[in-house]
Amino acid sequence: MQCPKCDKPLAEVYLREVPIEQCQTCEGIWLDSGEFQLIVEREKAEEGWLSRAFKSWLAGTKKEKELQKTLNNSSTPPAEPPSMPMES
Ligand SMILES: [Zn+2]
Repeated sequence: MQCPKCDKPLAEVYLREVPIEQCQTCEGIWLDSGEFQLIVEREKAEEGWLSRAFKSWLAGTKKEKELQKTLNNSSTPPAEPPSMPMES
């Protein structure tokens, strides 16, 4: 497998006994979704650095998505509950 970023061959390294591909040039780590899942599951059991890093990354991604949503909806006011009793 080649590095998708710099097109160099990837070296196989082991993380939590799961083989993953690491690029020796950009040090990028490339995972199959299955490999990723395996590592996350193993990390979950141990609360290793990766799961902590991953959690904070997830939190960041989530925030980013929420921000994106807010930005996308910026032309409309925040949604109100649909069944608000009307005062008239
Ligand atoms: Zn690379």
